[in-house]
Formats: sequence, structure tokens, C-alpha cells
Amino acid sequence: MLSVQLPRRLLAHVLRGHPWIYSDAIERPAGARAGDIARVTCGGKRVALALYDDDSPIALRVLTTSKQDRVGPPLWRRRVDEALALRRAAIDFERTDAFRLINGEGDGLPGVHVDHYAGYLALKLDTPAWRPHLAELVEALASTPGLALRGIWFKGHHKRDAAAAAAAPPGALWGAEPPDPVEVREHGMRLIASLQRGQKTGLFLDQRENRALIRRVSAGRDVLNLFSYNGGFSIAAALGGARRVTSVDSAGAAMDDARRIFALNGLDPNAHEFATADVFAFLEGADARGARYDLIVCDPPSFAPRKQAVPKASSAYARLHAAALRHVRPGGLYAGSSCSSHITAEMFLETMREGAARARRVLRLLELREAPLDHPSPLAFPEGRYLKFALTRVD
Ligand code: SAH
Repeated sequence: MLSVQLPRRLLAHVLRGHPWIYSDAIERPAGARAGDIARVTCGGKRVALALYDDDSPIALRVLTTSKQDRVGPPLWRRRVDEALALRRAAIDFERTDAFRLINGEGDGLPGVHVDHYAGYLALKLDTPAWRPHLAELVEALASTPGLALRGIWFKGHHKRDAAAAAAAPPGALWGAEPPDPVEVREHGMRLIASLQRGQKTGLFLDQRENRALIRRVSAGRDVLNLFSYNGGFSIAAALGGARRVTSVDSAGAAMDDARRIFALNGLDPNAHEFATADVFAFLEGADARGARYDLIVCDPPSFAPRKQAVPKASSAYARLHAAALRHVRPGGLYAGSSCSSHITAEMFLETMREGAARARRVLRLLELREAPLDHPSPLAFPEGRYLKFALTRVD
């Protein structure tokens, strides 16, 4: 086993639960390869066992800080069982069969994301360092009691890792290949997820409880859903009694799926509007038409994939909020969201204040939310708290 010395100044960082050790903090062990298990020591004592990565700036991902643990099948078994127990306690599987089963760092398996879609799992890796352990991990997932799994699909590597993506293309890891798409339920609402073609692993599961919130506040409203993907917020709004829902996304395939999902829920897609368009161009057109809505949901992709991009991203969020807020009727609702881990909740609220000022509107905060319980993150790991969702009233 590799041995890596942890500088004393990082001891508290690791013991408090931050799962990453950067390469510039340690001496890289000679001859070590991605996927090797490292014994992390401080002052000669074992502090953690960690997954070594030879290529990433994150040199070590902590797998355990418990002295008794060894790395291998019993540890994977325990991690998966604990993760499932947490979901089972909080999610009614009869009404919701799409949820995140393993949320990487938050479930003690840093770099591993596993989503459950009606008996199929979609697995995504942040690093190729997991590959030597993948067969064991798949075995642990496949034999999870009480899940009645039919298949496990490898969704691939994080898109920034092009070499790893080429070396390990998507495909079935175990059992049957999932149908394309898989039909799932979310609080009783029907959705479809393409594990093969879809963005993320098929759905943006982290917005589940926020879709439920939008459903509760949509009755009688004209709703505009910006960056709608396959229409999750739109269907929630329509089922909640919205008068008319307009969905806007630049991905044509997602828009076709949105129409299908409306029909699946017994809603007539022709009573609603689906625009395959750039949101910024759509909003300019809406200016010209003088279009007004009673509720706008705005859930763009991350504008700040890197820390250096934060100032630019903040002003882009503010501009977007301003452009959208001009179309909210007085007394209407505006829900803004950001999925960038580099934008904190306070920074995000500042972009909304700034956007509101530019649009000469005043916002009242009704609810500020983060990701739901199936997306846990260690408290000592603020990088894990990427999702912000603010529901406001527009005066
Ligand atoms: N709210 C969605 C998830 C949105 S993810 C849900 O609950 O499922 C962001 C979406 O923005 C993606 O579907 C992507 O296709 C779309 N997108 C990115 N840039 C865009 C642009 N400039 N105009 C329109 N859509 C865009």
C-alpha cells in the first residue's frame, strides 16, 4: 500500500470530513498509479485511507478516517446500505422512484454518482481512479437488498476528462440495458429519463423538491419555464393547475421529450407552448411582444464552471434575472436557481438583488433552498453545496 504524509496543518481539514487532498499539499509517491489505495499518515499515525489519482489536482480522495476500516467490498457494502437507508427514510418509493442513491463525497464514496431510475442505476465517475475498484462497487450495488434492480448503466466520466471518457465509453455494467427512455415517478408525477441520451444521468434529480414547490404555487397562473430541459418544472406547474405553461430550451430533443411527458400525465401539449430557442433571444422577442407571466422559473446551466469565472458569471446571472423579471406581472412569482458550486447562496441572492434593481422591481424572498436530502454533502466540504433555488414575490 502507498504511504503519503499529510502536512500537520491539514490534519483538522481531513478529520473534520473534507474528503479532498490537493497534489500541491503532498509529495507524490514514486511509481503510484491512479486507483492505488494510499495510507495517509500524520506524525507516523494513520489518519485516513484514500484513493490516489496521478493526474488530477485532487491527488487523494478520502475513503475512510476510521482506524478499523479496510478498503474493499465490506466498505462498499456499508456505504451503499447507509446511503439507501437515508433515502428510504425520507422518500416514499411508491410515489418517487427517481432519486440519487450515491452522492459522491456526501455518501463517503468521493467521485462516484449513482442515480436510481425505476430499477435501473446510472453511474457516473469524476475520476478514472475508481476504475480498478469498479467491479467491486458494481457488485455491491447490484446485490443491494430491497432495490430489485434490473440493470446498472455506466453513464461515463465527467465531461472535462476527455481521455478517460474515450477509454471507458458508456455501456451496461451489469444486468439489462435500460430501455430508452425509462419511465419514472416523482411525487406521483410521471417523467421520462434517457440514461443513454439525457443530460446529467437522465434527469436533474436535485430539483425534485423544488418542482414540487412550483406545483403548489402554480394554480391559475401563466408560467414561463426558462432552461426547461425536458420540462420537469413545466409539468409540475401544469399539474398544479397553471393556465398555460411556456417551456424554453435550446435542446430540441429535450423539447420533444417535454411534449411526450405532458401527454403521459394526461395533459394536452397543444394547450401549452414549447419553444426550442436560446433563452436570451426568446426574452428579447418577449420584450417586443410585451409578454407577461405570473410565474417565471429560471434554472440556467452553470455560468461559473471555474473559480476564475465567478465575477463574469455573477454579472451574467444579474443580467439574466433582470431580463426575466421585466416579464413578471406585479404580484407574480420569480424562481431563480444556480447550480454553480463557486457561487455561494449569499452571492446568488446578490445577483438577484442586482437583477431586480436593474429591472426596477423589488423582490421578497419566500423560500431559499439547496439540494434535497438525497444529495448530502459533508458540512466541512462547502464545494458540495452547489444548488441554490430562491422563490420570490415580485412587487
Ligand atoms: N430545469 C431543468 C434543468 C435545466 S438544466 C429541470 O428541472 O430538469 C439547463 C438547461 O439549459 C439544459 O437543458 C440546456 O439544454 C439548456 N440551455 C443551456 N443554454 C441555453 C440557452 N442559451 N438557451 C436555452 N437553453 C439553454
